[in-house]
Amino acid sequence: MNNNHVTILEINSQAVLHNLSYFKQKLQPETKILVVVKAFGYGSEATEIAKIVQDQVDYFAVAYSSEGITLREAGINTPILVLHPQIKNLKDIVKYRLEPNLYNFKIFDAFLKLADEKPLMNYPVHLKFNTGLNRLGFWHTDIPAIVTGLKGSNNIKVESLFSHLAASEDLNEQEFTVGQINNFAYIVKHIYEHLGYQPMIHILNTSGIINYPKAQFDMVRLGIGLYGFGNDKQETSQLKHTHTLKSIISQIHLIQPGETVGYNRAFVASKPTRSATIPIGHADGISRKLGNKNGFVFINNQPAPIIGNVCMDMIMVDVTKIDCEEGDEVVIFNHQQHVEYMAHKSETIPYEILTALSQRIKRLVKS
Ligand SMILES: *Cc1c(COP(=O)(O)O)cnc(C)c1O
Repeated sequence: MNNNHVTILEINSQAVLHNLSYFKQKLQPETKILVVVKAFGYGSEATEIAKIVQDQVDYFAVAYSSEGITLREAGINTPILVLHPQIKNLKDIVKYRLEPNLYNFKIFDAFLKLADEKPLMNYPVHLKFNTGLNRLGFWHTDIPAIVTGLKGSNNIKVESLFSHLAASEDLNEQEFTVGQINNFAYIVKHIYEHLGYQPMIHILNTSGIINYPKAQFDMVRLGIGLYGFGNDKQETSQLKHTHTLKSIISQIHLIQPGETVGYNRAFVASKPTRSATIPIGHADGISRKLGNKNGFVFINNQPAPIIGNVCMDMIMVDVTKIDCEEGDEVVIFNHQQHVEYMAHKSETIPYEILTALSQRIKRLVKS
């Protein structure tokens, strides 16, 4: 990674810890916490996030095995659930002591076979059930065959049973969500009856913790909340922003009336205009939808609208009324509300704004 790049994403470790404590106080003292650090820790830096919280959490989750391997290679020893493993990754999963989510018979049988060949003893695995998201997971009708497979093997041990809510942030979908939770409880009951032991159970993500705390069961899976977003104004206002994106002004141009700025001449000056060029573009996660004054940055605490089209590596902003010079600091965002505004203007959600931040942006952890 090039350390000379001036566009920097600062990760505030105190804010991360604050947000973790905020969610902890919503939970029973015995409820375990899994922190989701997939997609580079929601666009930040997964290993750093893991180091900040590892003493206070019980589990980490990643989407893919490669993300788990990165954590292990950085010395993280906390149990790691791989949410979306593939059959070809199972050997690596075992090699790096990662714990696979087994979500269908293809991967369940492949892992049982591997566990038998090794052989492994009581290797921790997790079973995911589909209760309405229709993404990954066994169906409740699969339970008899799962139980038969499990009873024939002491090579693996089911560490947890889990499911995922489809609309936990949307209170208009309360009836559906309660249905998912009840469906999950029914599945758990059947497995408990036939398995002979009781794995942990979990279904809540961030907005699940906020809206359905009674369904916290043995563990919750905290993702976006750790990074400062509660999926609800009131909750977000209690959280601290963890991501600050900064850059500098590379160059300032004085544009005369009739002259234009950027590709396709999309901005046409109607009066003398000062335009500042900033080294961040759509390849870094700044949507082209933010061009043409839909988005803005802050320079010396004043908003500077993006003029013209967003380029791959640069944006130009209007600084006519801002006292600034080349080399001055630019804040792309330093608050959840600004990220929410960018998300709104980009026709997306804060999750995508954060995770779209390119890997060429330097990450810096502030203690
Ligand atoms: C990403 C993910 C989470 C975290 O969701 P947030 O809304 O970010 O809290 C939890 N569980 C699963 C299965 C996920 O894929």
